Amino acid sequence: MSTNFADYKNIWVYAEQRDGKLMNVALELIGEGHKLSRDISADTKVCALIVGDGIGHLAQECFEYGADQVYLIEDPLLKNFTTDGYTKVISDAINEYKPEIVMYGATHIGRDLAPRVAARMDTGLTADCTHLDVKVANYIKFANENTTLNTSSLDPDDPDTGLKMTRPAFGGNLMATIICPRTRPQMSTVRPGVMQKMERMEGATGEIINVKPAISEGDIRTKIVDIVKSAKELVSLTDADIICSGGRGLGDPSGFELIKEFADKVGGVVGSSRAAVDAGWIDHSHQVGQTGTTVKPKIYFACGISGAIQHLAGMQTSDIIVAINKDPDAPIFEVADYGIVGDLYKVIPEIIAEWDNA
Ligand code: FAD
Repeated sequence: MSTNFADYKNIWVYAEQRDGKLMNVALELIGEGHKLSRDISADTKVCALIVGDGIGHLAQECFEYGADQVYLIEDPLLKNFTTDGYTKVISDAINEYKPEIVMYGATHIGRDLAPRVAARMDTGLTADCTHLDVKVANYIKFANENTTLNTSSLDPDDPDTGLKMTRPAFGGNLMATIICPRTRPQMSTVRPGVMQKMERMEGATGEIINVKPAISEGDIRTKIVDIVKSAKELVSLTDADIICSGGRGLGDPSGFELIKEFADKVGGVVGSSRAAVDAGWIDHSHQVGQTGTTVKPKIYFACGISGAIQHLAGMQTSDIIVAINKDPDAPIFEVADYGIVGDLYKVIPEIIAEWDNA
């Protein structure tokens, strides 16, 4: 790791792909990178880093969602994710090209990869961020002297400045603000579904940089024998436009049959509150909220869900929230755009029956 901050430039997004398809969170982070780059400098580039084999076609999608550059690392040994292989080639690329900021989605793979890369770079990592801001000027001085923050005096080369990374802490009871002021690159994993993708710009182009990985079989200690898709992976809450979630108000597990019928009718996927998961009514992969998935669908139906803060943390930025609850004082109505006070076993069948006429 170089201690010369001036050596570090640009924002990198680890553009996670699976089976040759980009994860949504990669595109969200490219959008976030653009927002941050504006506050750093006009010549700060947003770069997608794609690792795999035969994945060059994904560069175009990254450009269309706002990447200025795409770093491609391709090798047959990188066809499937392995912790050793990916950590090595990404660490090598960071050492060579020196990005100032590196962001990963807080997916299973991102959470595995990012801390290992951070350790190799001898830098910090803030995990599971929900908000990022650029450059708190002289943050340490600010904290020590408790003076008012003067963001107009930002000095990008001041080692006491840094990316301000915010994440929930202590079970979501407070938000922790973390900076990485004395090392580069600054790294974070970011929750899927929290940041905003840019509008797709069909036909946009950018620069592709092919990085030749120095990797051999001996670098990878894991041997992948087979990949078996679990039912869990089939639930794609983060990519869904419509989510129909059920909570304890369903009364028993068979209530999810109605929620499934509802979701099938409206073209959505099934979500749930933690209470329903804890009761064993549905798998955790459906759970929305602080300890589940953060979602941002176009429409979120909350059925028999009270609206506890930990549930809201995962869905309150949905475009439209429709709450169905028999208790008119349920907190979910405070965030709902449309509230229906009533028994979900009466209301949902009526919506299903009316949907085709809507
Ligand atoms: P309840 O709070 O029991 O609400 C049930 C609702 O159903 C009530 O409002 C009731 O009026 C309504 N109802 C009952 N019958 C009917 C009916 N027939 N028709 C219509 N409405 C009906 N929770 C999450 O959801 N996601 C998380 O990720 C999460 N993480 C957590 C992390 C921590 C550290 C902690 C401490 C808690 C977490 N929780 C999470 C739990 C959270 O605090 C709540 O306990 C949970 O969200 C409650 O689920 P619920 O709304 O389904 O149940």
